[in-house]
Amino acid sequence: MNIYLLLGTNIGNLSENLATARHLLTQKNLSIIKQSKEYQTKPWGVLDQPDFLNQVLEIDTHFSPFELLDFTQSIEQKMGRIKLRTWGERIIDIDILAFGDEIITDEKLTLPHPHAHIRDFTIIPWAEIAPDFLHIKLQKTIIELLNEL
Ligand code: ADP
Ligand code: MG
Repeated sequence: MNIYLLLGTNIGNLSENLATARHLLTQKNLSIIKQSKEYQTKPWGVLDQPDFLNQVLEIDTHFSPFELLDFTQSIEQKMGRIKLRTWGERIIDIDILAFGDEIITDEKLTLPHPHAHIRDFTIIPWAEIAPDFLHIKLQKTIIELLNEL
């Protein structure tokens, strides 16, 4: 189905947070097809915070894009995410990178994710599991985007 999620965390036990998120994601209506390695990455935007651990998942689900967003946001809440500041530290962040070839521009949901292609912490793990996936808006594969970074 070519649905991709980006997980990110930089508070607490990072690897454990990713494992908890994967566990909660697969509790209902969703299965993980592929998962990248966990990558330690430097913060982006707000620099005075701990390094992140990031991972990209390929999933399969019966959720629509907006249902998936509701579900991922409910997991962020369940794991105790509190917004401290934009691009700041968080126990878990779950972003939808792409949902097949859907293009959505809504204040709640933009697909493909608007910043994905310019961030190496997204593209490197994404290229590991889906090098040939076509970014529908940019008309480039993920490996092409990686080579352009
Ligand atoms: P960020 O991920 O940019 O650090 P947040 O996780 O707080 O910030 O997300 C802010 C808002 O981004 C969310 O409330 C959500 O409605 C919106 N959003 C838009 N597009 C997406 C997407 N593709 N995946 C996840 N959230 C998105
Ligand atoms: Mg987010």
